[in-house]
Amino acid sequence: MPNKVDILGVNVDAMTMSESVAQIETYMAGEEPMMIATANAEMIMRATQDEELRDILNRAAIVTADGAGTVWAARHLGYEMPERVAGYDLAQQLMKNSVRQGQRIYFFGSAPGVAEKAKAKAEQLYPGIQIVGTRDGYFTEADEPAIIEDIKAKRPHLLLVALGVPKQEKWLAKHQAELGVPVAIGVGGTLDVMAGVMKRAPLWMQKAKLEWLFRGMLQPKRAGRLLALPKFVLKVHGSRG
Ligand code: UDP
Repeated sequence: MPNKVDILGVNVDAMTMSESVAQIETYMAGEEPMMIATANAEMIMRATQDEELRDILNRAAIVTADGAGTVWAARHLGYEMPERVAGYDLAQQLMKNSVRQGQRIYFFGSAPGVAEKAKAKAEQLYPGIQIVGTRDGYFTEADEPAIIEDIKAKRPHLLLVALGVPKQEKWLAKHQAELGVPVAIGVGGTLDVMAGVMKRAPLWMQKAKLEWLFRGMLQPKRAGRLLALPKFVLKVHGSRG
């Protein structure tokens, strides 16, 4: 089994993208419900204050190092961390390979209409892909039984859940067993990016490890959240034994 790296109490897997994809594909072919989380600095910071989230992450089958901050933290703490495994990129790889494997995928989350647009995009990018269901992420408790029934009926191998952190992780922890879905991943803004509702940082910014800055600039409501990164850096540094 891959190495787990403890970053502020969250166990993150030291795995490459291709190792993560291969492992998740074996889970998709199985029966056991497996949850995958992609942990950026903001998620780890949140988990330091949210015990429920931290426990969920530490029970997840895989927690990938999503973001330059997480990779930096692992290395700063003296661990090996091969590379960044971003949720968006991971989802794209799994979608691409699902065509060959004949596996079904369900998109759950984001504003009304976004999952359908993301589905159209996936069908254009990966001809033959089976996106067997979509459902937006704005619902009340009374809507949940119907959502659960629909996911169960469509029998996806992979469920992408875009409800934001920590809602997506908590929703999955509560419902995944009942859904009977082998693999579920909380993917945050992935459907928004696929639908073209939100832009990803240009490649040069991603390479310069500045994607967090781009996201903060683009969404003013996130500006406050930008502070999570320097706080994270200080906290990780302080946690060094
Ligand atoms: N979202 C949702 N239901 C909610 C809250 C958020 O479907 O109750 C969606 C939102 O539309 C967006 C996604 O969750 O598509 C991710 O939200 P955000 O980028 O704020 O969260 P992050 O994952 O970056 O924390």
